[in-house]
Amino acid sequence: MKILSLIIDLLYPKHCRFCNKVIGFSRCIECEEKVAELKRPIGLPLQRQARNMDCLAFVFSPYNYEKPVSEAILRLKFSNKPLDEKSFALDIVNELKNCDEPLKLDIITCVPTTNREIKEHGRNLPYILAKIISQEMQLEFDPDLLLKIKETKRQMGLSGEQRRKNIKNAFAVNSDKKLTGKSVLIIDDMFTTGSTMNECAETLRKSGAVNCCGATIAAAVR
Ligand SMILES: [Zn+2]
Repeated sequence: MKILSLIIDLLYPKHCRFCNKVIGFSRCIECEEKVAELKRPIGLPLQRQARNMDCLAFVFSPYNYEKPVSEAILRLKFSNKPLDEKSFALDIVNELKNCDEPLKLDIITCVPTTNREIKEHGRNLPYILAKIISQEMQLEFDPDLLLKIKETKRQMGLSGEQRRKNIKNAFAVNSDKKLTGKSVLIIDDMFTTGSTMNECAETLRKSGAVNCCGATIAAAVR
């Protein structure tokens, strides 16, 4: 078995999950130093200040959204990297398991996207992350809990107020779903102003969810 893994390592040398450089059997010292500064304290939710989080109990993000973390997320949106997907999902699991207040969660879902967005990006990163996290935490995974019912402009480049307006009423709860009394964890790849995730939480709460929280790989520093 050791020989087999050695052959696999030689055929497919390991890459740094942040900068994508081939590292083989060693480590990427350059990224380790940068990422140490971007790693947020484990189990500490994002501060609510200057963020749109009215309907969210907590949001966890293991990293601040800066290079090389931002580049790693962008790469995952476009390319299939199962090992990296898993390691970032496990960073999120680590946050959730080390939260001071024990989280009582019933369902894990992901921020929904329209087909146009999946076509452009090629992959649905929130879905991929949420699936791994639900398996690791042994929780129900329901990717179809929320539907995106309105095409929206790209949030990037819009102000906080414009983002809120753009995403308003963009989601609906799938009519088959029973949410009364449930706690839902919403997964996305990154958290900027919070408008998208908060809108998801508001939609879920209108349908009876009592508690919504979120988790992403990274959050923009506020
Ligand atoms: Zn690196």
